[in-house]
Amino acid sequence: MSATHQRAGWSRLPLRAAAFVVLTCATILGVSGWREWAARDAVLRGAEAEMANVARSLTQHAEDSLDLLDSGVVGIVTRLELDGAGPATIAKLRTLLDARKKAIERIHSLAIIDDQGNWLTAPGTIGSTFSDDAFFRHHQLSPKREPHVGRPVKSLLDGEWLITLTRRFNKPDGSFGGVALATISANYLSHFYQQFELGRNSSVALTHGDGLIVARSPNNEKFVGHSVADKPLFRDASLQRPGGAYHFKSPLDGAERVSFFKRSSRYPLVLLATVDKNELLAPWRAAATSRMLYVAALVMLIAIIGALLVRQLQRGQRMAAALTEKEAHFRLLAEGSSDMVTRIGLDERIRYVSPSSVRVVGWRANQLIGTPALAGINPEDLPQVQAVVDAMKRGEKEEARLVYRNSHRENGEVWLESTMRVTLKDNGRVDGVVAISRDITEHKKLETRLETLAIEDSLTGLANRRRFDERLKEEWARAYRDRSSLALLMIDVDHFKAYNDEYGHPAGDACLRVVAQVIAAETQRPGDLAARYGGEEFAMLLPSTDAAGCARIGDRIRRAIGEAGLVHTTNHATGFVTASLGGAACRPVLERTAGVVSLVEAADQALYAAKEAGRNRLMMSGEVAGLMAKASGQ
Ligand code: GH3
Ligand code: MG
Ligand code: MG
Repeated sequence: MSATHQRAGWSRLPLRAAAFVVLTCATILGVSGWREWAARDAVLRGAEAEMANVARSLTQHAEDSLDLLDSGVVGIVTRLELDGAGPATIAKLRTLLDARKKAIERIHSLAIIDDQGNWLTAPGTIGSTFSDDAFFRHHQLSPKREPHVGRPVKSLLDGEWLITLTRRFNKPDGSFGGVALATISANYLSHFYQQFELGRNSSVALTHGDGLIVARSPNNEKFVGHSVADKPLFRDASLQRPGGAYHFKSPLDGAERVSFFKRSSRYPLVLLATVDKNELLAPWRAAATSRMLYVAALVMLIAIIGALLVRQLQRGQRMAAALTEKEAHFRLLAEGSSDMVTRIGLDERIRYVSPSSVRVVGWRANQLIGTPALAGINPEDLPQVQAVVDAMKRGEKEEARLVYRNSHRENGEVWLESTMRVTLKDNGRVDGVVAISRDITEHKKLETRLETLAIEDSLTGLANRRRFDERLKEEWARAYRDRSSLALLMIDVDHFKAYNDEYGHPAGDACLRVVAQVIAAETQRPGDLAARYGGEEFAMLLPSTDAAGCARIGDRIRRAIGEAGLVHTTNHATGFVTASLGGAACRPVLERTAGVVSLVEAADQALYAAKEAGRNRLMMSGEVAGLMAKASGQ
């Protein structure tokens, strides 16, 4: 995956998280809202079912009541038609009617009206004459024998609203004989309806088919006799069915109502049971409000936590981007550097190495990762490197600079200079070392060369005068410590000025090189030092050598120079190049006042004496002292 891809993926993540949080909140709100709406619907359906039950049973009650009235009326009609409407029959019937009325509470009155509309029994409970009443005219004009339920009428006697059920009776000749009448009081029905504790501002109304309210609970008095014929229940074609749920705004009190209406199949009656929608839904509304508040609080909490998480995510993303950039910089530095950058773990294995390892040690990074970091170090240098690494791991050292030899895959061995630094974990404990190593082989070579130049004589390759002086001091001190002896030979080419004059200066140089080689060949012990003391004068420092040993070596050198066969015609004694030598030996610890200089002087004096004595010879300083003593004795 490319870096840009990765970055794009990261930046979309907070957006996705935010979308997820929003979706979650919306879902919770949506589901909760839908559930509450379903609960509301269930409350309404439940109320409708309850109202339906009420409407059905009260319709049944109204029908039963009318049936009861009708059975009385049928009895009267039968009796009148069998026995005639004579005073004796009427008197008997009156007793019967009174008894019946008393026995059945539901019956408000029972009466017989003659063909002129006048009372035959009890004085007018409704009106004094019925000749103008709708039910009377109905029976007068219609030969039908079915019961007739009339519009509610107000009793003149007690002012009560009544429903009339009437039947026609015929005279023996079949003509209209009169009407048998039974009534039921609206108050009775209203009281009966009150027994149903429907609560919640409910109402039950029994309405005549033509829209006149017959009975109502509650407030019967107020509404009975009112016409609701202009309301949808009586006018809307869709509502002219036997029964059903019906939602409407009450024309009486203006409240929204849930209701169920039921039309009687046998009588022109409509029963409407209603409940106040507002009050019905009040408990649901209270519960739903508290539930929705709870849900809203929950959603708010989710939204807040979500927002915090998204912010955290954004911050993390920014930090990751910064880290990626930082890492890119570091990688660029590590991988672009010609130095080899190595990360070493506590197990001393390589965790990371930059690509320049190919140049520095000849191995590719992937070949080195996981291998021991100190494996290629020269065994001679390993202990000091190991000691430093151990100290760093123990936390005793934070930084170190080391120079050591390391094997190179192709070039044998290279000199490396490493700057090391410990790396720390978050808890401050050491978790490894970072080393930046560079190849300093060339530098090392130059250094060695410069060192050589500083101590070597350029013409002969022997140690120069500076080196000689240094070594002389060192060997003097050592001999002093070890209580050993130290010897010095001074070697001077004989008649060399003449050699130069004869053969030229370059030949003189060549001659000096040969003499130097001869002298160098005579150094047998590692501590012996052959040096060019100056011009055509050489010196040989011989540690742990006494006078006898010194004389032996000096003589060997003298002979070897002579035997080198360097022609020197003006050296008349031999015709070859020869040298004179002065030797001196001493035990520094025994020399009280004398120092280094005294040894050189002694050897110099011996050399002078050798020259004096005829050249091509060795003189030891002891001999010189003897000669001098002899000379002074003469
Ligand atoms: P003696 O036997 O007494 O030592 O005689 P000599 O000629 O060797 O003595 P002297 O010390 O007077 O002369 C030394 C000469 O060596 C002088 C100088 O020209 C020559 N000489 C010194 N250094 C060099 C050198 O580096 N190259 C050459 N070609 N000649 C040198
Ligand atoms: Mg000389
Ligand atoms: Mg000389």
